Amino acid sequence: MVISKDDIEGLAETKEQKEWWGVKSANMTRGSLEVFAGPMYAGKTTLLLQRVLWLDHQQKKILVIKPSKDNRYNEDTIVTHNQLSYPCISFSEFSEIEDNYNIMPYNYNTVCLDEVQFMDCKDTLSSVEMWLRNGVNVIAAGLDQDSRGIPFETTSQLLGLADKSEKIKAICTVCGKEATKTYRVKASGDRIQVGSMGMYEPRCLEHWEPK
Ligand SMILES: [Zn+2]
Repeated sequence: MVISKDDIEGLAETKEQKEWWGVKSANMTRGSLEVFAGPMYAGKTTLLLQRVLWLDHQQKKILVIKPSKDNRYNEDTIVTHNQLSYPCISFSEFSEIEDNYNIMPYNYNTVCLDEVQFMDCKDTLSSVEMWLRNGVNVIAAGLDQDSRGIPFETTSQLLGLADKSEKIKAICTVCGKEATKTYRVKASGDRIQVGSMGMYEPRCLEHWEPK
């Protein structure tokens, strides 16, 4: 991607941005996409957060985003079972992110997305592609399948686009072997819901059935 001097003048608002474009425009490098996917309780958020804390330790600027549970844009915290936490923003529409944050490499090194299975597929793909093209790295985590064994579209598309991906396994609650599936303990509602503790369990292929 080659950017002309006129483009730089148009895009850059500050002296730092102009300098950044001047340096980067000659050999713009695309950002990389890394995806963690797997069943519930596999530690996807923990893994994501470990990356976040490592990048933070290296003084890289990071934006952590998760889908909002209550259809409102707000500031939040991402927390794992082992008490790791980091500030994040939650949203219902990607336009809210674009309106509030200028996601460019001079502002952010990496954007981290959690619970991508709940994000709109088309909007997620178009935003992620734009960030990558602009040179921002993206790390995404989400459920790969629902309890019926049907792949979540957004996670699947991101896995397809990923430069690096990892299928994370959980531990089967029945036998303790590797669990790649999410089992629905109680049948109620549609697909997988947020905060549904006790409703789902990770299971191996032997102890899982779609429902
Ligand atoms: Zn099992």
